[in-house]
Amino acid sequence: MSKMIPLHFEESCLIIKGQSCYNRGMKRELMDILVCPVCKGELQLTVAEENQEEIVSGSLYCDQCRVNYPIADAIPNLLPPDQRD
Ligand SMILES: [Zn+2]
Repeated sequence: MSKMIPLHFEESCLIIKGQSCYNRGMKRELMDILVCPVCKGELQLTVAEENQEEIVSGSLYCDQCRVNYPIADAIPNLLPPDQRD
């Protein structure tokens, strides 16, 4: 299975692998499909705060790139570090 460009992030919609659209919110199920935007590797989830539906805050960590992708307000910021403001 080839992994495509993992996602780009729009206001209220997370597009993953160019095929799925999710309403905003970092759900645990997303861990099955979220990959590192740089190396397409697996991400490690660290939960700081979680409610019944979503992971409210925490981080996603790529071991290969040694990059941390923050989750804030239940939105994962999966922009590569050099594309963040
Ligand atoms: Zn990576």
